[in-house]
Amino acid sequence: MQPQRATQPDRTLRFAVIGAGMAGILAAIRLSERGHDAVTVYEKGGTVGGTWRENTYPGLACDVPSQLYSYSFAPNPDWTHPYSPGPQIQQYFERVAADYGVVARTRFNDEVTSLRWDGTAWQLTTAAGHRDVVDVVIAATGVLHHPNVPVIEGLDSFEGHCFHSARWDHAVTIDNARVGIVGTGSTGVQIISAIRDRVDALVVFQRTPQWVLPMPNDPFGPELLERHQDLDLLRATHAKLSELFGKFSNAVIDADSPEAAMIGQACLDNLETNVRDPALRERLRPDYRAACKRLIASPDYYDAMQASTVELVTDPIVGVEPDGVRTADDRLHELDVLVLATGFHADWFVRPMQVVGRDQRTIDDFWTPRPLAYLSMTVPGFPNLFMINGPNGPVGNFSLIEVAEYQFAYVDQLLDRLRNGAATIEPRLDATEALEAERVAASRQSVWVTGCRSWYLDDRGVPATWPWTFDRFREVMAEPDWSAYAVT
Ligand code: NAP
Repeated sequence: MQPQRATQPDRTLRFAVIGAGMAGILAAIRLSERGHDAVTVYEKGGTVGGTWRENTYPGLACDVPSQLYSYSFAPNPDWTHPYSPGPQIQQYFERVAADYGVVARTRFNDEVTSLRWDGTAWQLTTAAGHRDVVDVVIAATGVLHHPNVPVIEGLDSFEGHCFHSARWDHAVTIDNARVGIVGTGSTGVQIISAIRDRVDALVVFQRTPQWVLPMPNDPFGPELLERHQDLDLLRATHAKLSELFGKFSNAVIDADSPEAAMIGQACLDNLETNVRDPALRERLRPDYRAACKRLIASPDYYDAMQASTVELVTDPIVGVEPDGVRTADDRLHELDVLVLATGFHADWFVRPMQVVGRDQRTIDDFWTPRPLAYLSMTVPGFPNLFMINGPNGPVGNFSLIEVAEYQFAYVDQLLDRLRNGAATIEPRLDATEALEAERVAASRQSVWVTGCRSWYLDDRGVPATWPWTFDRFREVMAEPDWSAYAVT
């Protein structure tokens, strides 16, 4: 990615960046590089970091390589592993946000509750009652941060400790306890591997088995750590990994591609080779294609599932009782702690913030029955509102940092219009709907629709994702198609 020019804007624009997670930090840095001083970052939490601040569960890590899961402009020589542990990522964001002056621009513990377009600007209100008026809103509110707490009969009656994975209660000891975990997504798998040796017993409630890609993650040795002091080398690694991950996109957008077959084979080999007990192997064997659900990558999940402390339960949960979880075979699994690694409401985006655009139309209304945005960044009827990692954007197993950098560079070009005197910019409804129709049609080729349940799928069963190659994403991000926008 090219470094941004530092220019003085022709017009003083007032900005609100909502969220000081990965994308909000990026937006604040880029705006500052552009010479914008009237930028306030609103953050509901007490520190930066977003998902990496909120998730503190044991085993938290990123399954995107460390050198790629870094800003292109801030390579980090201090990563200790090929795939970074969560606390290191959190430290990285804290450091970058401090070094680039983002912390100084941020109002912490100040959650934006409403945004109202008054015809010329956005009226912003926070939960604390603070008010602001801005020309531009950058919504960097994240995708996976509203916990999905499952509806299970009797859940409230549980007399042990129960919490969602993203609300890990560190006051509760799991050491030598009987722990149950519901969910075997990317989160559940990491937790299971991390706590298997700490607990007295770990009961894994699996609704659907997962394909697991082996992901060795031995720490970097002293020699590599030394070499990583060379920031040019890190930048080159970032570029190489980006190319490699770009190729991976073929595997998910074309279910019949050789890349998809390769990934499927690697997952199958992992299962066949690393699960010794044939009965357990069958219970861990998915009946859908690899990468249909978000692919799991783990160095040691199958090891963990064969540990003496771990029991796999595949009978469906029928209810929770004061002493534990009852399954359909009428067994009561007695537990001290119940962890819900049950994912997130992936379709909330800027909500529950109240967003009211032109003609008093709310975003809730515009997003009924489901979220829609032009290239996942802008919404017709909501001028000067830009989302990073908004609806139907590239998810897959891409590095969302990289995606955010491309998206912000694109948004920056839209902002040029405002810098040069335009009052508003927003996408045309017809262009938005036409692109959405193309996106839905293209997603029919993808691996995500080959017969599994996942958080990628919307209420129609259409993947809420970018269904084309990563190269095409880069091309589209390079320059806006101006005919898709209304500028006043
Ligand atoms: P998830 O992928 O949505 O998985 C939720 C799990 O809970 C699934 O196993 C699901 O079963 C199960 N579940 C949900 N409701 C249930 C119910 N009522 N009864 C029984 N089981 C239930 O959530 P996640 O694991 O938190 O991961 C979400 C996403 O976060 C990932 O896909 C990934 O994008 C991101 N993430 C990334 C990393 C990383 O390393 N980069 C790490 C963690 C998370 P079914 O499969 O049957 O639906």
